[in-house]
Formats: sequence, C-alpha cells, structure tokens
Amino acid sequence: MPLDARIYVAGHRGLVGSAIVRALKHRGYRNILTRTRQELDLTDRRAVDAFFAAQRPEYIYVAAARVGGIWANNTYPVDFLQTNLEIELNVIRAAHDHQVKKLLFLGSSCIYPRVAPQPIKEEYLLTGLLEPTNQPYAIAKIAGIELVNAYRRQYGDRFISAMPTNLYGPGDNFDLETSHVLAALLRKTHEAKVSGSPAVEVWGTGEPRREFLHVDDLAEACLFLMDRYDDAIPINVGVGEDVSIRELAELIGRVVGYQGDLAFDATKPDGMPRKLLDVSRIHRLGWRARIPLEEGIRHTYQWFLANATARPGPSA
Ligand code: GDP
Repeated sequence: MPLDARIYVAGHRGLVGSAIVRALKHRGYRNILTRTRQELDLTDRRAVDAFFAAQRPEYIYVAAARVGGIWANNTYPVDFLQTNLEIELNVIRAAHDHQVKKLLFLGSSCIYPRVAPQPIKEEYLLTGLLEPTNQPYAIAKIAGIELVNAYRRQYGDRFISAMPTNLYGPGDNFDLETSHVLAALLRKTHEAKVSGSPAVEVWGTGEPRREFLHVDDLAEACLFLMDRYDDAIPINVGVGEDVSIRELAELIGRVVGYQGDLAFDATKPDGMPRKLLDVSRIHRLGWRARIPLEEGIRHTYQWFLANATARPGPSA
C-alpha cells in the first residue's frame, strides 16, 4: 500500500482496529479513515454505502464486529449472529460496489470445529460441529469468509480473510461479564491483590488450553498480509503455542504479584477443550509473532493500570 493510500479501518476503537491504526501510523500512513459507531452505523446499509461513495477508501481492514467472551456469546446469541452478519454484508458489498483495491476481513479461531485435530490447519474449516457456546458468532464469521470468497470467485475481487487466535493487549475489554479470559483474569487478580482476597475465581476447570496473541503482533500480521497475501484460504494468525487456563492464571498471578490461590468455578463453561492454530502457512510466507506471552501480559497490565477500570459492554 502506498503511504498516501486511503485506508479505512472499520472498528478502529476496538482491540484489533486500534492496534491496526497504531501500526499504520507507525509506518507513516497518512490517510487513515475511521468512523465511530455514532458517526457511522455499520449495520445501516445506506449509511455504509454513502460513506464509501463519499470517502472512496482504497484498502479496508474489517475489524468491526460484535465481540465478547464465553458468557456474552452464550447470553446474546441474536446480537452475535445478526449484528455481525449485517456488518459483513454491508461493508463487503460496499467494498465491491466502490471498487476497493483490497480488503482484509478478520475472522476468529472459533470458526473451527470443536474437536478439530490440533494444531488447527486452515483446511479443517467446515469439517465438523462447532463449539455451542459461540456457534452464532462462528457462523456469522464463516458467512463473512464465504462472502469474501464469493466476491473473489464471481468478480475477481482481491478480498482476503485472516483468522486470529485468542487476542489480548492494550485496549482490551476488562468488563468481567463480556471480556475474554486474559483480560478478566488480569483484572480479577489485580483486584484480589488490592483487596487482600484469599483467592481469584477462575471459570471452568482450568483445563482448557488456549493460544494468546498480542494484538500488536496481529496488527503487524494484518499489514503484512495486505501486502503479501492474495488467496481464498483464510489464513491463521497465531503464535503456535498454547497454555492451559490454570497456567495462564498462574502466570498472571506472577505478573501482578498476587500470592493467593485459584478457586475454580466448575459451574461455568469450559468451552472448546483446545484451540491452537497451525501457523505454518503464515510462517512460510515469512511472518512470525514476536511478543512472548509473559512480556505481553506485563505490557497489558501496565496499560490496564494506566487506563482501565471497567469499560462498558461488548464493543463493535
Ligand atoms: P473462548 O476462548 O471463546 O472460550 O473465550 P474466553 O476467553 O471467554 O474463555 C476461555 C476459557 O477461559 C474458558 O474455558 C473460560 O471458562 C475460561 N475462563 C476462566 N476464567 C474466566 C473469566 O473470568 N472470564 C472468561 N471470559 N473466561 C474465563
């Protein structure tokens, strides 16, 4: 992308979108288009079309989505399915109608079957049943990937999809009902330390395994893929290693400096037993994650201390 290209980052206030904007600015891109949800409602087809007609973006990162952790996904299935379908339809259709040069659509590792062999290769998509706690979100994201590929096939559009693993970092949602596990445990552990509480509550059994990618690494991958990737296969973006939720909670305890115990609440769901992406495809292209988990958690904890108490609900 030339440095003066008109680049629209949809969802620039979210975890992913804000990291993409930081990465673009850092590289010297000077024509970055953003709109808040109040300025442009991406579920409104006419508003989206008018925005594209007026601003003529040339490159698009689709990081706008209704997102949330296991509890939010389970509790608001309509929002996670319907809002995401609407955003995808409106933005991808407008990108085609207004001759966008290239579009990168962000999916999620939860699109893969619940019991996929690990690590999960891109070709396992649609080979088995989904994890029920996030099936509506996963189906919306699978529909987005299919739409991207439909435009590729029918019109030759240079639209691509990337599938990040579980993400964390500055700008994360620390609201305990809607956040993902890493942000939730950082906050709970910090609060347990401050209040002198004897234990941190950890949902589920602690046995599920997850892979955690720092969002600044993901943003670098998104810039890399925009330049170097042009294929229908939705490409995995991860670190290639995972930890159990128990190990994560212990690591967070060390970073925060908390001496208490972990109290597992088995009445809360575990979700997918394991979710580790096979990242050999993106490694072969020449990209690798750089930020080690402990360093990334330290960095995120600093950000949390400086910026966050609770943020309101799931963000788009
Ligand atoms: P998932 O990767 O889609 O399952 O989403 P999450 O990040 O929300 O949850 C990952 C795992 O962490 C699940 O097994 C959760 O039960 C577990 N977990 C443990 N404590 C928490 C917590 O406080 N919040 C969340 N969201 N998950 C937790």
